[in-house]
Amino acid sequence: MAKIIDGKAVSAQVKEQVRQETEQLRAEHGIEVGLAVVIVGDDPASRVYVNNKKKACEAVGFRSFEYALPAETTQEELLDLVDTLNKDEKVNGILVQLPVPKHIDDKAIIDAISPDKDVDAFHAKNVGGIMIGDYTFLPCTPAGVMELIDATGVEVSGKKCVVIGRSNIVGKPMAMLLLHRSGTVTICHSRTQDLASVTREADILVASVGRANFVTADMVKEGAVVIDVGINRLENGKLCGDVDFASVEPKAGWITPVPGGVGPMTIAMLMKNTLTAAKAQNGLLK
Ligand code: NAP
Repeated sequence: MAKIIDGKAVSAQVKEQVRQETEQLRAEHGIEVGLAVVIVGDDPASRVYVNNKKKACEAVGFRSFEYALPAETTQEELLDLVDTLNKDEKVNGILVQLPVPKHIDDKAIIDAISPDKDVDAFHAKNVGGIMIGDYTFLPCTPAGVMELIDATGVEVSGKKCVVIGRSNIVGKPMAMLLLHRSGTVTICHSRTQDLASVTREADILVASVGRANFVTADMVKEGAVVIDVGINRLENGKLCGDVDFASVEPKAGWITPVPGGVGPMTIAMLMKNTLTAAKAQNGLLK
């Protein structure tokens, strides 16, 4: 029986730390921390994410600025808004909720966000910084996964780590963070041959595939730390991860649930990044 890694509890600790430091910034330096969240269109999943981010901002004492734009918003209009937010001193972090409607080039939008306010850490300058280990922000989901692995007490150094998925927002930076901790890292993807033989070697297995119940017990090493990044909606409306929890849980040493695992960590790390941005912009980053 695996021990459950409680993402709600770990994320609550991260947010509490952010709340205390936010209060301290206000009391000692008169600085208010602000996050601008931009949503274009009416995708229901994006709406839920944005509402959760707004609630988290309130909980940690940030000002949140929400810009809900219609789906017909042009790329130029969105770029104009990003430019305004880049110049707005009240705004320390800018997040444009992805995906944006198809007529907008998301790369052009990410490129336009000031790297100093890029709290998602998607801008090429920040991504490059992560490659060479010189960064201010880490991308929220992989950084949250590292916190969850740390919560188990399992040492990454020297361990075989397998990441399934090579997306720019999860798989690739995830592999880099594990490598920074001296894990021996393998990245798998849809062309990987005999995937199960690779994943069965993993002491630490991170699944970011986007396929419900994809990782089954035969793909997991006895006692492994299994981190499930996936968020998939089943036909019955329930959320489920990329890991077949029922079969894997008896075999793994540690496992994250969905919901209540990686999801809450992503938002907590966004709050942490926004606080870091505010400190950096005010010359207070140690
Ligand atoms: P993505 O961009 O679609 O990437 C999926 C990756 O899985 C790709 O690299 C793909 O390989 C690989 N893959 C697909 N089928 C495979 C197969 N049969 N065998 C091996 N690899 C396979 O997705 P993403 O953005 O990384 O997101 C993945 C999941 O995480 C989604 O469910 C998403 O909703 C969730 N997510 C959760 C959070 C959170 O906060 N918890 C944050 C972000 C994402 P190829 O590159 O070869 O196509």
